[in-house]
Amino acid sequence: MALRLLAEVSPQDLLIGLSELHNHALGYVKSMSLKCAVDLGIPDAIHRRGGSATLADIAIDTDINPAKVPDLKRMMELLSTSGIFTATAAKDSGGGSSKPDDVSYGLTTACRFLVGWRNLSPMVPFVVSPLVVSSFFSLSDWFRKEPSAAGSLFELAHGCPQWEMASKEPRMPRSTASSTNPCQLFLEVVILDKGRIFRGLSSLVDVGGGHGAATQVIANSFPRIKCTVLDLPHVVSKETTASDGNIHFVAGDMFESIPHADAVLLKNVLHDWSDEDCVKILKRCKEAIPARNEGGKVIIIDMVRGSAQEDRKISEMEAIQNMFMLCINGVERDMHEWKKIFSDAGFSDDYKIMPVLGPYSVIEIYP
Ligand code: SAH
Repeated sequence: MALRLLAEVSPQDLLIGLSELHNHALGYVKSMSLKCAVDLGIPDAIHRRGGSATLADIAIDTDINPAKVPDLKRMMELLSTSGIFTATAAKDSGGGSSKPDDVSYGLTTACRFLVGWRNLSPMVPFVVSPLVVSSFFSLSDWFRKEPSAAGSLFELAHGCPQWEMASKEPRMPRSTASSTNPCQLFLEVVILDKGRIFRGLSSLVDVGGGHGAATQVIANSFPRIKCTVLDLPHVVSKETTASDGNIHFVAGDMFESIPHADAVLLKNVLHDWSDEDCVKILKRCKEAIPARNEGGKVIIIDMVRGSAQEDRKISEMEAIQNMFMLCINGVERDMHEWKKIFSDAGFSDDYKIMPVLGPYSVIEIYP
């Protein structure tokens, strides 16, 4: 009787089950530790010391209380196991005298994107912010509600959509304002790999272009293109409304009207909206561009899920990202879901999907 449970499951299965369940249930400890490392500036501290630092170095550089160094060690161990830092034991100087505290921490490939000029760290406090994380406590509730009653997960949890909260709640980090560098970095990859999509254009309007970070990269690489950024009035501020080199800023609403141009760019915009809203936006885009034989097109830079089925890390990233978007009623679409939207908005069915970095793709659609 006492050993009945073990008769039905092998100790090995028990271990597999426990480790999988713990890694899932406590997955947030990993995100919180990453956020803490970014908040404390640990990646920068290691970077400033030439890419390698001991616990004592990190504690001094990031102002950690000396009594908490053993706890810092726990966090560094976790983040080294999970692929953010590297941990190398210091060389034994003979006689087995090296201590566990002599470990040197370095930056993994992932962590190198948290320092220097190609710094993606601003996205961490946004996705790991209390308002966003706490929304997910309402998930089971949200699943049971009528779609019209629930709104987004964020709205159910906090009583207003995230964009409304962003304008009145200083604790809510802004994704647009903080996404300048990742945005520019990715655009450079797009131009390097698929620059021909911009060649020959005389004008382009970047719809939902934020503060124009991506547009700036295009304008620098293609000075002959007359670039316009369209965004909401509170985003296109007084400082940016003035023309800036060959970029012109327009405050407006993409659901109402879009300035005319040879091409419309929608970068990381459509994944925020439902299929129905995407169709509305794309119809406005169609009105803004010339006919196909005159070079009219819409360029969409967004995720196309399912491009890397065989890679578990990338498939997991796609699934997590898609689930994360549920928080704001957004969605990461696969090829078939994109196709339906293009056809419902009246675009030709010979669109082009061009993978750039795994699922991150450029799509060209024609009127
Ligand atoms: N294209 C940028 C920003 C994407 S975030 C990038 O790739 O980083 C989505 C952008 O759409 C935000 O800047 C938001 O202010 C803008 N947006 C949201 N609703 C809009 C509307 N109705 N009209 C114009 N822009 C809008």
